[in-house]
Amino acid sequence: MSFKAIIIDRDADKKQSFTVGEMQESDLHEGDVTVAVEATTVNYKDGLALTGKAPVVRKFPLVPGIDLAGTVTASEHPDWKSGDKVVLNGWGVGETHHGAYAEVARLKGDWLVPLPQAFSSKQAMAIGTAGYTAMLCVLALEDFGLTPDQGPVVVTGAAGGVGSVAIALLAKLGWQVIASTGRAAEESYLRDLGASEIIHRDELSAPGKPLGKERWIAGVDAVGSHTLANVLASTRYGGAVAACGLAQGMDLPASVAPFILRGVALLGVDSVMAPKAKRLRAWERLAADLDIAKLDALTTTIGFEAIPQAAADIVDGKVRGRLVIQM
Ligand code: NDP
Repeated sequence: MSFKAIIIDRDADKKQSFTVGEMQESDLHEGDVTVAVEATTVNYKDGLALTGKAPVVRKFPLVPGIDLAGTVTASEHPDWKSGDKVVLNGWGVGETHHGAYAEVARLKGDWLVPLPQAFSSKQAMAIGTAGYTAMLCVLALEDFGLTPDQGPVVVTGAAGGVGSVAIALLAKLGWQVIASTGRAAEESYLRDLGASEIIHRDELSAPGKPLGKERWIAGVDAVGSHTLANVLASTRYGGAVAACGLAQGMDLPASVAPFILRGVALLGVDSVMAPKAKRLRAWERLAADLDIAKLDALTTTIGFEAIPQAAADIVDGKVRGRLVIQM
């Protein structure tokens, strides 16, 4: 039986391209669990993979897509049986292992987490890696010991996927959220998610001073580069910033001043290789702390055929919130 899939390949000159076509189960990579994919999404990394703008895909041919939710149809793994609802985020899927943009996936059972009862497959993908990473950032700030009564939190890349979910979560948890965005037209969207102050990203994206006015006790940064440097420079004494993204750049043109003069901490957040216990904790907290009405408000549903265009749009910073694809 063949099924639809997006397949990325490259030619003799290493030029990458993709086709929307069909594949067979025998084409899938090795794994001990087979999943009927019910929903997926387009993350920034998927955009980079499909457009070829960064070397995300490192094995060819490859089905991209780093996130999926679906139902187990066959399993040789002790934790999973046919009929189980599961979620997959990362672990190199969609990079070196056939991923989510196909109706069937064969995966390692160790990579999977159970779909929380609070969510449908579609809602889990509306969250996706971006939302699960936003939760990891919130957990990093909490584990550092920060609480909403200590001051406001700034969220950069606010209208994007990580930013939107981070705002919804932090506002629900009682934080005063300052949202940094380049899209002034999204002010009411960001306020509806729970932001109480909107700043233009130009305030943070140019080269700045080693230390600035102390403006926030915490930060969730999806942008990197000068933006992260400026967020650190304006973090209050004893605060912390969870850094997960590079939408502006991978560089960090910062000084040590915030660290050595204000005791500020930079907390690195990775979702791809995060251990299973951390994933389970993040998904449990998403089920407890993410307002479903806000999740719906930040989600746009698109068709499978629209994935390539969405990939181009997300890399161009044109996607608001999160995209979900029902297979
Ligand atoms: P999105 O494209 O949805 O959001 C990124 C946002 O960043 C944009 O919406 C925009 O927000 C802002 N932005 C874009 N370009 C620039 C720029 N040049 N300068 C300043 N701001 C910019 O992506 P995601 O939310 O899915 O991902 C955000 C980042 O986090 C990406 O870099 C991604 O690779 C990374 N990431 C990392 C993970 C990890 O495990 N560490 C996991 C998931 C994501 P606005 O329009 O509001 O200004």
